[in-house]
Amino acid sequence: MEATTEVDVVVIGLGPGGEHAATKLAEAGLQVVGIDRRLVGGECPYYGCVPSKMMIRAADALGEARRVSDLAGSAEVAPDWSPVATRIREEATDDWDDTVAVERLEKAGVRFVRGHGTLVGPGRVEVDGTTYSASRGVILNTGTEPSVPPVPGLAETPYWTNRDAVRAESVPGSMVVIGGGAIGLELAQAFSRFGAAVSVVEVADRILAPEEPEASAVVADVLAREGLQVLTGVEIGSVSHADGTFTVDLGDQVLTADKLLVAAGRRNNLADIGLDAVGLDPSMKAIETDERMRAGDRLWAVGDITGHGAFTHVSMYQAQVAVRDLLEEDGPWADYRAVSRVTFTDPEVGSVGMTEHQAREAGLEVQTGQAEIPSSSRGWIHRSGNEGIIKVVADADRGVLVGATAVGPAGGEILGLLAAAVHAEVPVATLLTMHFAYPTFHRAIENALQDLA
Ligand SMILES: Cc1cc2nc3c(=O)[nH]c(=O)nc-3n(C[C@H](O)[C@H](O)[C@H](O)COP(=O)(O)OP(=O)(O)OC[C@H]3O[C@@H](n4cnc5c(N)ncnc54)[C@H](O)[C@@H]3O)c2cc1C
Repeated sequence: MEATTEVDVVVIGLGPGGEHAATKLAEAGLQVVGIDRRLVGGECPYYGCVPSKMMIRAADALGEARRVSDLAGSAEVAPDWSPVATRIREEATDDWDDTVAVERLEKAGVRFVRGHGTLVGPGRVEVDGTTYSASRGVILNTGTEPSVPPVPGLAETPYWTNRDAVRAESVPGSMVVIGGGAIGLELAQAFSRFGAAVSVVEVADRILAPEEPEASAVVADVLAREGLQVLTGVEIGSVSHADGTFTVDLGDQVLTADKLLVAAGRRNNLADIGLDAVGLDPSMKAIETDERMRAGDRLWAVGDITGHGAFTHVSMYQAQVAVRDLLEEDGPWADYRAVSRVTFTDPEVGSVGMTEHQAREAGLEVQTGQAEIPSSSRGWIHRSGNEGIIKVVADADRGVLVGATAVGPAGGEILGLLAAAVHAEVPVATLLTMHFAYPTFHRAIENALQDLA
C-alpha cells in the first residue's frame, strides 16, 4: 500500500524561490518537504545567472583591456578560457553538485526529497510512490527548460543550450547563436570576446525585442563593431550537423559553425506536474496567481512559471509574498509595477517598469525623455566603451515615471535610482530637484528628465 506522510507544506521545485520559501517556512517551525528532481537552487546558480556572469566578468576584462590602446598605451590580450571554466566548475557549481545546498536546506529543517513531484489532488503530492499530504498547502516553483524551436533538423543535432555553454571547457572556433534575447546576447558576446567567430540569428526584426528600440539599436551597433554578425528578421529553414560542423540554412544565406547555441526562450515546466489533479489546465503557458501568489485551493506558485518576469529576483520576491501568506501575515502583497531587469552585455541594458510602447498601449498620457551617454560629461571622459542612453517614460497626468532604461557602462547599477523612482512614484518634479553627482553616468538621468516632452 502506498505510504502517506502528513506535513504542513510541500514545495515542488527548489529554484531560488522554492528554496527560499522552504527554508523560511521550516525556520518558522512548519514541517516542510522540499522536492527537486535536479539540483537544489535551480537554473540560476548552476546553469544561469551565476556561471554566465562569471563568463561575462572575464570577457569584460578582455573587452576593457582592448580599450587600452585608445586610452593608455598598449596591452597584449591573450584570452585563456581555462580560468573561467575552472571558476565555474569549482567556485560556482561545485562541479554541478548541490551537496552544500541540500545540507543548508536540511539544517534549516526542511526534509529534502530528490525526485519528480506530481500533484495528485489539492494539498497532495506524490513522489516515487510516497504521497505527502500538506495541511497548509503546496508551493509550485518548477521553473523552466530551454525551449527549442521546431526548426527542421535541429532536434537531431548536438546543439548546445545554456546548460552546455556554461560547462564549456574551451572556446569554439565559431558559433551560431539562435536567439537575440538577453541570454543569447550575453553568451554570444562573452564567447566572441574570447575569440569565437559568432553569428546571432534572431527571427524578430530586432535584438532584445522586449526592450526599448533605442536600447536594441545601441547594443546591435556595439556588437557589430566588435565583429559579431547579428542577423535579424531571419527565417531559419533548417539545421544540420556533419563532420563536426553545424549548417544553418537561412534561405538567402547559409551559416556554418563548430557549435550551435539555442537560446530561443524558455518553456515553463507545467505539463507533467499533475495540474489537472487540482483543476488546472496542464497545457497552460503560465500559472495565474493572485497578489498573494495563490493559484488555487491550498496552492501557491512562484518564479518563472507565473509569467511575471523570468528573473531570480522576481522568484525570490514572490517567495517572500507566499511565505507571508502561509504564515498568515498581513502583506505586503505582490506588485509588478517596477520589475527591473538587466541584460549583462557590454554595454549593460537595465530597465524597469513599462517601455514607451507598453505605456502607450496602457492608454497613459505618455511623455518620454532621452539622454546620450557619450555626450554626457562622464561618457565623454570615459571614451572607449561609452555607448549608451538613458530613456525615461513618464505618465504626464500623474507626473511620475512609469518606466526607464539605462544602457551603458554599469547600466544595471544606474538602473537602481530609476527603479526606486518608478517603485516609489517619486514625482518627476522632485527628481529634478535632486543633486546628481558630477561626473557620474547617472547624472545623465537629469538630462533625460529635462528632455521629457
Ligand atoms: C543563461 C541564463 C542566465 C540567466 N541570468 C539571469 C540573471 O542574470 N538575472 C536573473 O535575475 N535571472 C537570470 N536568469 C533567469 C533565472 O535563472 C531564473 O529566473 C531563476 O532561476 C528563477 O527560476 P525559478 O525560481 O522559476 O526556478 P528554476 O531556477 O527554473 O528552478 C526550478 C527547479 O524546479 C525543479 N523541478 C521542475 N519540475 C519539477 C518536478 N516536477 N519535481 C521536482 N522538481 C522539479 C527543477 O529541477 C529546478 O531545480 C538566467 C537564466 C539563464 C538560463
